[in-house]
Amino acid sequence: MNRSPVEARSLPVLQAEIRGCRKCEDAGYIAEANPLTRGTTNARFFIIGQAPSRTDHESGGMYLGPAGRKLRGWFVEAGFDEADFGTTIYFAAITKCFPGRLPGKSTDRLPSRAEQALCRPWLDAEIATVNPAVLVLFGGLAITTFLSRAPLSELVGNVYTNDDGRTVIPLPHSSGASLWLNAPENKAKLARAIDRLREARSDALQ
Ligand code: SF4
Repeated sequence: MNRSPVEARSLPVLQAEIRGCRKCEDAGYIAEANPLTRGTTNARFFIIGQAPSRTDHESGGMYLGPAGRKLRGWFVEAGFDEADFGTTIYFAAITKCFPGRLPGKSTDRLPSRAEQALCRPWLDAEIATVNPAVLVLFGGLAITTFLSRAPLSELVGNVYTNDDGRTVIPLPHSSGASLWLNAPENKAKLARAIDRLREARSDALQ
């Protein structure tokens, strides 16, 4: 689908508008909206995950749950440090509110297409405003939305360039619910992806 060009805006104003959004709560999709977004216009790296975790929802932080901490560890392996998180590394997601758990399960619910569509303008506005050099797609939903529906095994470990000239690096989701990383060959693909991240860091921050 072709999308209209999105104009850059004042990031603090945009983030304040995002934090005030209650569209999914008003529509009855989620129990409580608590939109999370974090980063600065200096961010050269822009992480797009699926949605905030319950830990994030309760703490107001981002990528602080078990899967998020594992992702942060991959960035540290690639040469980043803690001070980069939420500053030069922008934290975003396909939807900005915790979607709740699957009924009777301890895993998070995938945001519906309707929720993704409601939230997408915020994400497009953030990307246009921050203008990052590198998009890091964290997990299947971000990868299918921004890169390809090809299997993860074909994508992870490679680096791509999108129509806007941005570098795109796909990463698997690090949730314990995902079994993809259990296979030794997939662990090797993740190691290659971290190498790609390290190279992109050298290029973008030199
Ligand atoms: S998920 Fe996005 S669109 Fe829905 S209430 Fe939260 S910020 Fe608004």
